[in-house]
Amino acid sequence: MHLTATLERSARLNPTKAAVVHGEEEITYSELLDRARRAASVLIGAGVGPGDRVAVMTYNTPGFVVAAFGAWFAGAALVPVNHKFAAPEVAYALEHSGAVVGVVSGSLAETAVAGAPGFRWFTTESAHDGLPDFDESVRAAAPVPGAVDSDLDSVAQVLYTSGTTSSPKGCLHTHRTLSGLAPALAATLGFTQDERFLLAMPIWHAAPLNDWLLTMIALGATTVLMREFHPAELLPAVERYRITAFFGSPIAYLLPVQLADAGALDFADHDLSTVSKWLYGGASLGEATARRLVAAYRSDRFFQVYGMSEMGPAGTALYPHEQLAKAGSIGRGPMVGVDLRLVDADGRDVGPGDTGEIWLRGDTRMIGYLNNETATADCFVGDWFRTGDVARMDRDGYLYIVDRLKDVIIVGGENVHSQEVEEVLRAHPRLADVAVIGRPHPEWGETVVAMCVTVDGTELTLDEVREFLADKLARYKLPREVVTVETLPRNPSGKILKHVLRGQV
Ligand code: ATP
Ligand code: MG
Repeated sequence: MHLTATLERSARLNPTKAAVVHGEEEITYSELLDRARRAASVLIGAGVGPGDRVAVMTYNTPGFVVAAFGAWFAGAALVPVNHKFAAPEVAYALEHSGAVVGVVSGSLAETAVAGAPGFRWFTTESAHDGLPDFDESVRAAAPVPGAVDSDLDSVAQVLYTSGTTSSPKGCLHTHRTLSGLAPALAATLGFTQDERFLLAMPIWHAAPLNDWLLTMIALGATTVLMREFHPAELLPAVERYRITAFFGSPIAYLLPVQLADAGALDFADHDLSTVSKWLYGGASLGEATARRLVAAYRSDRFFQVYGMSEMGPAGTALYPHEQLAKAGSIGRGPMVGVDLRLVDADGRDVGPGDTGEIWLRGDTRMIGYLNNETATADCFVGDWFRTGDVARMDRDGYLYIVDRLKDVIIVGGENVHSQEVEEVLRAHPRLADVAVIGRPHPEWGETVVAMCVTVDGTELTLDEVREFLADKLARYKLPREVVTVETLPRNPSGKILKHVLRGQV
């Protein structure tokens, strides 16, 4: 389906229902459709034509939703831009994606303009000197009668990956690939049109945008936008808006629990009973943490989702009844409409008890990376996508992510999963943060290096680390070098940038 058609359908079926709620403002489906069609006129007036790209860099606000659908009605592709980007990063995103026009939150305009001085920015939410006001322009414009280009195979999005393993890659998604997500997610997770989804993770990011917002719009359900995530506001927002579903990174769930532990928040003060889906993903949650969350949120309605930008994201899910017995797993199987294989280095399927790379296939797969034929050729095998994630399958067929393929350290022919060493090491009382990487070694191929941040800033010695790990891990997995550092480089999703660290040692 064309993404504009998903909105048209919901506006036809539920014209007076709230599509998007933000603070006091409620935008109905017919209103959203109207604004999107007017936004298309504004963008066309600014020179946007079919096949062009429109950058949108905002907080979680209605302006994002209007601009995105406006771009789609105008036949253009959306380029979601990280609202935390500094000027040079904005410049790179615009240049690499080839965006011609952009919409930016007024309070971010200074950075956006500094990054790209001559670029055609509109502001939303608030004004900025010298830039046209998008919201005003939309109000004043005449709506386009329908989508300028309704080809399902036209590019709808240039979606940048998080840049965990190398610099971010631009996934090219079409109307066909993105509209495949709503049926997959609704069928897998049981969403209905009665959903009131709290969108509090950044709207420009793959899962919030494509999995949650687009699915809610396709279903004719309601999305409540939280401008920015604040841990203290999560529970009040759930109560105020009678939220049925929320998605957060593991850390977004943990911060309110930490506030509660510190006495700054009381879960018992808030009615969370409307929530039937507490969704988390992007990183795995250990068994102990999963138990802690279930107890704190007084809910047995946790779902874990696993996926990546290249697949929409789509991938796998771990259901509520499996949360405790299989804590830490990403589930036993793929989402509805997705095929999964676990494959060894020779491309052969492996089974229970074994470890391999996850390959995924399905209608939501991107058509390739923008301007990067090598990376596209490397990750596609026929219609399969090689995820680069290494997982272990337990005896019952449940998958556990053990590492990124690029982070596996090969010591004298033995595979060392960096995340396994990190997990064990994290229990060290003096450690605040840790990353384990490989350093090339003439004899061994690679050796294990632990980059450590200590609680009090004092040095952690190699002997201390090896002694701590000696009875917990095989000898070949033990670090041969320990470097104490002040901080570890992370991307905005909180993932450690190991390729940056490798350049430092
Ligand atoms: P890049 O591809 O640029 O290196 P990235 O892979 O971090 O960055 P995303 O597409 O945003 O970019 O993230 C997808 C990745 O996040 C997955 O391939 C996987 O490694 C990790 N991930 C996602 N969900 C989970 C989960 N539930 N458990 C563990 N890891 C997850
Ligand atoms: Mg990736």
